[in-house]
Amino acid sequence: MSDIAATTAESPARSPLAAEVSRRRTFAIISHPDAGKTTLTEKLLLFGGAINLAGQVKAKGERRNTRSDWMKIERERGISVVTSVMTFEFEGLVFNLLDTPGHEDFSEDTYRTLTAVDSAVMVIDAAKGIEARTRKLFEVCRLRDIPIITFINKMDRESRDVFELLDEIEKTLALDTTPMTWPVGRGRDFLGTYDVVNGGVRLLEGGGAKTGAAQQIEIEELAKLSANLDVSAVKDELELVTEASKPFELEAFREGHLTPVYFGSALRNFGVGDLLEGLGKFAPEPRAQDSDQRKVEATDPRMSAFVFKIQANMDPNHRDRIAFARLCSGKLSRGMKAKLVRTGKSMPLSSPQFFFAQDRSVADEAFAGDVVGIPNHGTLRIGDTLTEGEDFNFVGVPSFAPEIVRRVRLTDAMKAKKLKEALQQMSEEGVVQVFRPRDGAPALVGVVGALQLDVLKARLEAEYSLPVEFEVSEFQLARWVSSDDRKKLDTFIAANTSSIADDVDGDPVYLARNEFYLGYTKERAEGIEFTNVKDVK
Ligand code: GDP
Repeated sequence: MSDIAATTAESPARSPLAAEVSRRRTFAIISHPDAGKTTLTEKLLLFGGAINLAGQVKAKGERRNTRSDWMKIERERGISVVTSVMTFEFEGLVFNLLDTPGHEDFSEDTYRTLTAVDSAVMVIDAAKGIEARTRKLFEVCRLRDIPIITFINKMDRESRDVFELLDEIEKTLALDTTPMTWPVGRGRDFLGTYDVVNGGVRLLEGGGAKTGAAQQIEIEELAKLSANLDVSAVKDELELVTEASKPFELEAFREGHLTPVYFGSALRNFGVGDLLEGLGKFAPEPRAQDSDQRKVEATDPRMSAFVFKIQANMDPNHRDRIAFARLCSGKLSRGMKAKLVRTGKSMPLSSPQFFFAQDRSVADEAFAGDVVGIPNHGTLRIGDTLTEGEDFNFVGVPSFAPEIVRRVRLTDAMKAKKLKEALQQMSEEGVVQVFRPRDGAPALVGVVGALQLDVLKARLEAEYSLPVEFEVSEFQLARWVSSDDRKKLDTFIAANTSSIADDVDGDPVYLARNEFYLGYTKERAEGIEFTNVKDVK
């Protein structure tokens, strides 16, 4: 076992399951488009030797700027099946990197994926700082107190003041920072990073291409390397950083209050090794998951999993779907039977897809922390729990209030019933959310990313022969409404019928024209809670 893996071992006499679980690090990358997620992903995969996958990530990156039509969606979705989960091994650890779709394929899947990880890497463009998308994704992480490791990228270019960047993280995200490395030189004079914990400077040039590791020198030697560098100023700065930084505290990190910060350049494969090492050392192993009955420990030998994403095959001749399930406990092996708790029925897991990049010998098994793809014909829904027979449901795969709301217009009014069924299916699969106005008006659909609408339109046409158009509706916002006092809720609903709709579970949703209306209504609705996140039951 490697050094990293050894440091995480809690006791020498663990069961084989516990040993497998403790090797897992399941994480996602959160970032704003163009911060360098794709580039960093490629470099991380190179460390694990998953070079073929790295090529595919790139292919996706190159294509992503094209607006998707039917064929392109198909291609893009096809590729994202491959890139949904990327597994690589490094120094005895198994890293599961779950893809968080960005750019135009940003969708609710992006948010939901964050419910299936144990930690996240936040990539920040050094010239831009915290951007809108990063902040949103961070908020989703915070819902579950997911520990965050920060990678400040593009240090090879002009950046903002580094102290200011850290200050921004602390202030806007209410997240303490501990720099683990510190950049020496800036922009074109970026020479490398200082190891704040162990001392010594790692140089950008001369770092091995694969490892990014480090020709290590002492600060005094820097003067020989760059005439532009004021070595005494660098020394002063490093002294300040070392003295003034908050010490790294594992517990505060694990609770989501403190982030270790690494500096680097994904493009030049610099600092990526430090980041990966940090992930291995600090990121938690698969955590216990809450269910409606009990907390489920990852090392519990009974298999359990929940579905967080469903990928449809866009080929209309193949109605199969792949449900992505995160294993929460035990071991899943090919051919085993699982209980789908929602229906009480047993389903054979005859051909689950395992996502091992390297180690083929274990490709027929997955352990808590891993993600498996389960082919099915529409049986599985978002939020479904699979067990070895027990009756409990995992909680915490939420729905998120849509950012785009549209009314569905059917060109053939005779097919209204069929549309209703189709929309029900689509919302169960998490393609879009569907809201049925109480006043009987046509259904509204809500999404967080525009591509979801394209996918819905394409699938309704291909799978149900339903041509639909989307119209801008008078409503822009949707919030779930609830109250401890049932009477108050009923009164509120009765007074606002024309703005109330039911979601897929029949829970009431308040529709608002805009933020102003929403604020106005909220102020007057005493005892009513408006939420933009709802746990899927
Ligand atoms: P994504 O949208 O977050 O996946 O970003 P990409 O990985 O596609 O990167 C966006 C652009 O930034 C591309 O042109 C990359 O080549 C570039 N880029 C990524 N990382 C770095 C870096 O460390 N330094 C520089 N100079 N450019 C970078």
